Amino acid sequence: MWLFEPLTTEQIIIGARAQLHLSADGLALSRGGVTGGDIAASVADYAEVAEVSVGAGRSCALELGFGPSRPAWTLKGVARPQAQWAAHTIEGYRDLAAWSLSSEARAPLAPDELAKRLHACTDDLVLFGNLLVAQAVCHVASDIDLEASGDAYDIRLRIDGTVQPVVSIAVDLGARLVRMFKNQAGLQAHRQDITQEGRIRLGRDDGPVDLRVTVMPGISGEKLNVRIFNPATQLFSIASLGMSKEQAETLAGLLSEPTGAIVICGPGGSGKTTTLYATLQHLAEKPARRAIATIEDPVEFDLPGVSQAQVGRDLDFPKALSVLLRQDPGVIMVGEIRDPQTAQIAMRAGMSGQLLLTTIHAGGPEMVIPRLLDLGLEPYMVSSALNAIVSQRLVRTLCTACAQPVTLNPQDLATIGLQSADVVGAQVKAAVGCPQCRGTGYGGRTGIFDITQIGDEIGQLVMARDVATIRERLAGDGLRQAAAEKLLAGVTDIAEIIRVLGGEK
Ligand SMILES: [Zn+2]
Repeated sequence: MWLFEPLTTEQIIIGARAQLHLSADGLALSRGGVTGGDIAASVADYAEVAEVSVGAGRSCALELGFGPSRPAWTLKGVARPQAQWAAHTIEGYRDLAAWSLSSEARAPLAPDELAKRLHACTDDLVLFGNLLVAQAVCHVASDIDLEASGDAYDIRLRIDGTVQPVVSIAVDLGARLVRMFKNQAGLQAHRQDITQEGRIRLGRDDGPVDLRVTVMPGISGEKLNVRIFNPATQLFSIASLGMSKEQAETLAGLLSEPTGAIVICGPGGSGKTTTLYATLQHLAEKPARRAIATIEDPVEFDLPGVSQAQVGRDLDFPKALSVLLRQDPGVIMVGEIRDPQTAQIAMRAGMSGQLLLTTIHAGGPEMVIPRLLDLGLEPYMVSSALNAIVSQRLVRTLCTACAQPVTLNPQDLATIGLQSADVVGAQVKAAVGCPQCRGTGYGGRTGIFDITQIGDEIGQLVMARDVATIRERLAGDGLRQAAAEKLLAGVTDIAEIIRVLGGEK
């Protein structure tokens, strides 16, 4: 897998000549031509290079040996410094190519090892960029961030929602790396005063990986974000969200309703979008499926069989929704309800023959109905359209290579609503940290869920606008219970649950 194509040997030597020409103007350059179709060019070619040798003398020969299966390739009459520079670069490609074709390349490197390897190739950004992207993909990172601070560029990966520093490099080097990403994504490399967004598709044996590249102007230098859309790790299904069997069945039942609204709530980064996609995938796979249409900001994944629209400068949520409803789809997904107009149009659809799936930025189920009323919806609309509220969070799961069994004292258990009797016979574990998990003790994430179905009783409270009682009734302990189940199953540990849900009972 190469994001940035390595140069051909010819390009390396021409580059070396130009560099030499610039640094030592007037130096007599030899005119040795590069010929033949046997020049190392592809990844496999580089991996096959067995030996790189530079001959003696000021004007010398550069020779690439490929082992017994293939004749050596020789370029004669190259000025010695050029030959040395070319040999050095080719060796770098050879090492990375061999490594990228090996099984080790599919395994994540420990943080200090990755930093060491990256530092070793700072004089060749092609190597650097390829190694960085390859490692980000196999660490299952969601983002690569490059940000200038003073005289350095900090490179970070976002893995399982947490930011992990990788290396800091010189600011000019970082700027060149940003430019390389911009070129690759088809952005205007010379414009540094505007925000730009582009895409790169990465070919891999086990399926393509899409990268969304965003650059923003910054004080010390441009800020780069590379969002990694890795389909291999993003299979959407209700079964893989982390719900209990009962919850998954409840959700499937709600999705079979012909009409009404299902609202998913949680703070930013709590996995709401993934849940939305899983519900759409579930509906799209039904044999007698309804027409499904979405309005998103932005469209994060292409879903086969689903008509997806993205809001933009000329198309806001309300406008897009009005257009969409004229096509009369059976299921509508609205990425997020955040303004009164969208709330009105969407809920009306949910009242009149369409199944509406959407999210609201709210901490818990008890805040959703008050929020909808605050957005100006009439109580009768909320009470007749709203079928269920799915509240969720993401917790990191323990690294299976290093997690250790642990005995929790009653006070710790009490912070998440458990007693000592609850943990008898359970597999309670705690994070430790090893190279495989970059020392964090965790690998991957799972959702914890609380599904609240809105029945007649809540409906009547909505009609009466009795917000205080609604808050009281819906402020349940569901998320904490779901988290406790993950703890008892050894999926996550108590520190992570407290980090996500807070420790107060
Ligand atoms: Zn580990």
